[in-house]
Amino acid sequence: LSLANQGVQGLKPYEPGKPIEELERELGIKDIVKLASNENPLGPSQQVKAAIAAAVADLSRYPDASGFTLKQALSEKLSVTPEQLVLGNGSNEVLELIFRAFVQSEHEVIYSQYAFIVYALLTQSCGAVHRTIPAKNYGHDLDAMLAAINDKTKLICVANPNNPTGNYINPSELKKFVEQVPTHVLIVLDEAYFEYLQADEQPPSCDWIGQHPNLIVSRTFSKAYGLAGLRVGYCACHPDIADLLNRVREPFNNNSLALVAAEAALADEAYLNESVTLNTQELGRVCQWLDTKNIQYIPTKGNFVTVDMKGDAMPHYQALLTQGVIVRPIGGYGMPNHLRISIGTKAENDRFMAAFETLGLA
Ligand code: PMP
Repeated sequence: LSLANQGVQGLKPYEPGKPIEELERELGIKDIVKLASNENPLGPSQQVKAAIAAAVADLSRYPDASGFTLKQALSEKLSVTPEQLVLGNGSNEVLELIFRAFVQSEHEVIYSQYAFIVYALLTQSCGAVHRTIPAKNYGHDLDAMLAAINDKTKLICVANPNNPTGNYINPSELKKFVEQVPTHVLIVLDEAYFEYLQADEQPPSCDWIGQHPNLIVSRTFSKAYGLAGLRVGYCACHPDIADLLNRVREPFNNNSLALVAAEAALADEAYLNESVTLNTQELGRVCQWLDTKNIQYIPTKGNFVTVDMKGDAMPHYQALLTQGVIVRPIGGYGMPNHLRISIGTKAENDRFMAAFETLGLA
């Protein structure tokens, strides 16, 4: 242990959930419903599956190391140049590339109290200083984040919508914030849940990069596009930043099935809309039900809702498991009384609501 970098020595191991098959065996339940990882309950589209099936014929070749065609398609969609894009093995890898390229032990990284856990993990592994800013109504206190900037600040991470809380920052507030961050500080705008926002709620963040060369916008195919298992994420940024990130990126970091799947998913707008519409409807229905049951939750714009269990949430998590419903306890985020529940299909959400009622939680 003492041989490891100091930051790495302080890392806690990631505790993955058990595979569903294992849980089904342990609990003796056949039809477990997993509402724990903010995935698309519909899975990938038929077009994506067909593209993957066709690409299977050519697996002996290395994938395209630069992701040329996917970047071409993304550049058209986002109105940026391909030189402004970097592909990652999930947007987690994009975050890792950013930290690897820019963050050293003398630097400070600013993020909010209930921020996505990977920001803390990466800050720790770089041995850099965590500047965790107390949340405001569970969301980002942007003014306090700005006030925390000093000469050592290298990075500010803001997820919008935020995971695990679902909080949302509107485009004008966000733009004002971006305009106030000094240019020596990189802003990582993590938009993993961007597609779930209604069109008029979506900040035109990629359009701001021209004015703000310190802005990096990251997105993913893991959520609304339904490709979490294939691991494709990307960021848009100034071409000089993209160039640096591409230098630290492993060649072939995206496998060939992932690349063709992401291209097919991007082309299938009807399916994306269907996925987003399902989420909007079901999130609305679940929140309405929570309201009628007087169960408190954090207002959310993601594909999940974070519920206040008014006491230690772990026993409730365990009890829900016995009903065949997996949700996400978020004690690791410093929210031991909350459970994060991903929005599933109508039938899956019915199961979660029925389990709450059976257990006397609603
Ligand atoms: N950012 C946020 C805010 C997330 O919630 C997630 C997924 N949980 C990610 C990034 C990473 O997703 P992926 O690596 O699958 O793209």
